[in-house]
Amino acid sequence: ATQPYDDQNIFAKILRGDIPNSTVYEDAFALAFHDINPQAPHHILVIPKGAYVSWDDFSARADDAEIAGFVRAVGNVAREAGMVAPGYRLLANIGQDGHQEVPHLHVHIFAGRPLGPMLA
Ligand code: 5GP
Repeated sequence: ATQPYDDQNIFAKILRGDIPNSTVYEDAFALAFHDINPQAPHHILVIPKGAYVSWDDFSARADDAEIAGFVRAVGNVAREAGMVAPGYRLLANIGQDGHQEVPHLHVHIFAGRPLGPMLA
């Protein structure tokens, strides 16, 4: 199992509305907002509304409706932002070697320029 969920992490505070964010998408399963330190012209983070530390925690514990809802939400964000035709990149960092900094599952969406080859 992974670490216990820390409900004081920054994305938990964003979900609770304790700190502001620039919401670009919200539904029953997910919230999407702009990354505070964008690495591409469009850099959006999509997070599940449930309390999950990482992709590992989510895929192990979330029920099927949450998993389906989250996957669909990530697609919706990109589609509604007009990213599909030019293309975009999804990224999830998991754990220490994955350089995950915030312990609430998030999927990065990068778009708005040719992104080049994937970096190791
Ligand atoms: P990680 O390395 O965990 O995959 O990525 C964490 C991301 O969260 C980073 O890209 C960082 O810029 C972003 N981030 C950290 N704190 C905040 C915040 O308070 N607000 C927003 N919108 N993004 C944040």
